[in-house]
Amino acid sequence: MIYADNAATTRLSEKALEGMLPYLCEGFGNPSSLHGWGREAKKAVSEARELIASIIGATAEEIYFTSGGTESDNWAIKGVFESKKRERVNFVTSTIEHHAVLNTAAMIAKQGCEIRFAGVNSEGCVNPIEFDSLIDGNTILASVMMANNELGTVQDIRCLAEKAHAKGVCFHSDAVQFVGHVPLNVKDVNVDLLSASAHKFNGPKGIGFLYVKKGTELSSFVQGGAQEFGLRAGTENVASIVGMSLALQEHKDHFAERVSRVEHLSWMLKRGLSELSPQIKFNGSQESGWTMPGIVSVSIPGLSGEGLVHVLDMKGIATSTGAACNSKATIVSHVLQAIALPNDLAKSTIRISLSHENTEADVCAIVSAVRRVVCR
Ligand code: PLP
Repeated sequence: MIYADNAATTRLSEKALEGMLPYLCEGFGNPSSLHGWGREAKKAVSEARELIASIIGATAEEIYFTSGGTESDNWAIKGVFESKKRERVNFVTSTIEHHAVLNTAAMIAKQGCEIRFAGVNSEGCVNPIEFDSLIDGNTILASVMMANNELGTVQDIRCLAEKAHAKGVCFHSDAVQFVGHVPLNVKDVNVDLLSASAHKFNGPKGIGFLYVKKGTELSSFVQGGAQEFGLRAGTENVASIVGMSLALQEHKDHFAERVSRVEHLSWMLKRGLSELSPQIKFNGSQESGWTMPGIVSVSIPGLSGEGLVHVLDMKGIATSTGAACNSKATIVSHVLQAIALPNDLAKSTIRISLSHENTEADVCAIVSAVRRVVCR
């Protein structure tokens, strides 16, 4: 079996699981309780917060635990909108955002917020000049994802954040596909809000965090108890919080070797696939920018992407046609539309997403499985 759908989710790391088990068993206390069990759980949550903060260059008070990337995106956008609600406001984002951002934008649009979309070029890069032109005195927030989940294209977030800040506007980035894969310092990229999700970097599912730069105005997301500095109520998911911090730490300890391994595997994969047919097209940033090391979006003219994913699945190879949450929809992905990929090519597209756990043998097996389908 070959798992090559790591942009959808990743395997839970053994270290993360080991670290989680005590809090699922004897260390089951509620961090809000005053007794020993409670204190132990509270300490674990605080240590995890400190660890995550130190890895991304933040302070512990700037890390808010959430149920994952979707909630972090929802909170960032709705939280800023609520705190700045007034007449004639607008929200600036891009056409290739994840639905966690796009559908949240649609929600605040119903409450009177104008949504402005910055387009992308054929490689999925946001044009900073167009982005800048959309921001004005009524903009409450700008949000552009750090790395796209279908193409892997990485944006120049520092540049976009600077444009927003120059006009006094807060900047959020959905970094769900980025955090844990490549070193990141929130101060360097200069974002005010940043979303992350543990299951994309070998942590457990259903846990993530929102980085909120000190001083950023943000309304509470869930009302109830005083957890998460009074802004996101609910008893903490202690085991998952611990697992997330350990998974992130493990990646941090191996960034250099993992990035170069995954880059090498992706290079092998692209080389192998490009030899199958001269018409094969790789999507995402090939020249003008940077692509996530493990995400390979490839269009194979004449083949059905969905059909290919099924054939590969029957051979024990897991890939995807695009975003996992959307792969049941037969419509062409909004991301492929945004890069103006012709419809027939978009329908011939699959995403192969590799991780440090894949091997050269996996890549060879994927290429020969695709070759057999192409030859047929
Ligand atoms: N943002 C991006 C870019 C994603 O790829 C995903 C998941 O695929 C999400 C947000 C949602 O994250 P989660 O699955 O943790 O809710």
